[in-house]
This record gives sequence, C-alpha cells and structure tokens, in this order.
Amino acid sequence: MPPAITLKHEEGYVVMPWQDYKEEGFSAWDDRDGDLTDQVERTVMKDRICYKAADSAGNVTVIYRDIPYDTGYREAAGKDFPEIDIDDPNAQGKAVYLTFDDGPGAYTEQLLNTLDRYGVHVTFFVTGSSPTYEDMIKKEDAAGHSVGIHTLTHDFAKIYSSDKAFWKDIDQMQAIIQKQTGHTTNLMRFAGGSSNSISTNYTSGIMTLLTKQAKQKGFQYFDWNISSGDGGSEGDMNMVIKNITSQLPNQESCVVLCHDTKEYTVKAMEYLIPWLLDHGYSIQPLQFDSEPAHHGVQN
Ligand code: ZN
Repeated sequence: MPPAITLKHEEGYVVMPWQDYKEEGFSAWDDRDGDLTDQVERTVMKDRICYKAADSAGNVTVIYRDIPYDTGYREAAGKDFPEIDIDDPNAQGKAVYLTFDDGPGAYTEQLLNTLDRYGVHVTFFVTGSSPTYEDMIKKEDAAGHSVGIHTLTHDFAKIYSSDKAFWKDIDQMQAIIQKQTGHTTNLMRFAGGSSNSISTNYTSGIMTLLTKQAKQKGFQYFDWNISSGDGGSEGDMNMVIKNITSQLPNQESCVVLCHDTKEYTVKAMEYLIPWLLDHGYSIQPLQFDSEPAHHGVQN
C-alpha cells in the first residue's frame, strides 16, 4: 500500500492575495513503514502546495493542496471593509494615478511593500518633514515610482511669504531628491494645491505668480480630482476607500490625493489596490505630460 498523506486545515484560514501561505500541517502514514511525516517532500507552487511521500517498497503518493486564497477579501475584512458598490461602465483601462503627499514617513516602507506585491507604480510628492525616512525617496525612485516635490517644510507661512521664499524651499527639496535618486524631478505639487486660499493670508496673488513661475522653471504641477479625505486629523480606512471609489466614475482620468503619513491610508491600499486591479483600472505613476488635474488658481 502507498503511504497516506493527511492535510490539516484550520477552519476559516484564508490567505490574502498579498500574503504568503502559512503551512497548516500535514502527516504521512504507511502501513509497513509507519510515520513518514518527516520524509514528506513539500513543494510550493503558484496556487497550490505539492506533498510527496514514498515508502520503502517504492510506493509513491503525491497530493496537492489548493492555497486557500481569499478571493472575497472584502468579506474577509469583515466590518472593517466598506461595501463597494459603484457603477463605473468605463472602469476598464481607466487611468488611476495614486499620489501620496507629505512623506516619506513611518508608513512609507509598508506602502512600498504593498505596491511591490501588486507590481503597481504610484507618485510620491515628498517633503523634508521626517529626515529619518529620507532614504525612502531613494527606494521609491528605485522601485519605479514617480517622485515629485511637495515642499521641504510644508510651512504655509514661510513658503507663501514670497516667491523667493517659495523657490528657496523647493530648491532645498530638489537637492534632497537629487542626493537620494541621483537626478532631479520636474514634477511638483503645491502645499495645499494650486487653488489653496490659505496662501492669500501671507501674499495676495501668490498662486497666480507661482504657477506661472513653475511652468517657466520647467515644472509640471499637479493638483487632484479625487480626494481620499485623509488630509484632516480624523479618518479611517473605510473613509479612504469610500471616498476614492465613489468618485472614480466621475473622472475620465483619476488623480487621487492621499497621504502616506497616515497609517490607515496605507492600510486601505492593501484592499483598494487589488480591488482596482480586479475591476480593470490601470494604476499608473504620473509623468510630466500626465493629466495635471488643475483646480484653477484662486488668487
Ligand atoms: Zn501636503
């Protein structure tokens, strides 16, 4: 008789598409040789695991276990995951530019890992707010993401005090990017966006001036046409997913504002990205000639 292989399964155990399978256990028994568990050859394949056992008489048993991937990741996330029920007839091939402002920070590496798992590329509008994580800029660039300037300080009072002060700040951030990546960037996003009205508290008409100067200096500046809503002090994963998905049908090309300084936003991406891919959206990094999603300068 060939050996018998028995597989254990933990009730309810599922593997999220971005996780590795954790062996649930197996055993092998032979009528003559007894316990052969130690001699089982285990091979991890793409969607299944192969287990092979042979007894001393040369009888071989091969069985497979389908990896219990969770295809219903929404259900698996339970209450923490919102119902996504949107009707976007143009989803197929629609460009979604996920953009992350204000980092790099404590959650940037986690985000990079998630993006890597799905093989998608996004855009980081970086700042100098957490020098400890400055080397993440190098990782972002090396992984094929787009890196643009947000500001060095993100200090509205300082950067919008004059055009001279603004470009001094931008030049300093550009130097950090160059140091990290070996090249400069011609992508930027204004702190607060080009339509922000806070800057007028410091210098009237400065956004009109700065947007013009940005073009003259060879930059393309980007705003957004979808906001994740994570810019404030309160929010959660559900909010991010709901805000983004509900606005997708309204745009032909989606430039999505997010912040990689928010842990819940980074967590939301673990659900949102596979959902976007499943629904045919095309996640892309911004390039110089991509949709700039300009808001229209207010002052
Ligand atoms: Zn910002």
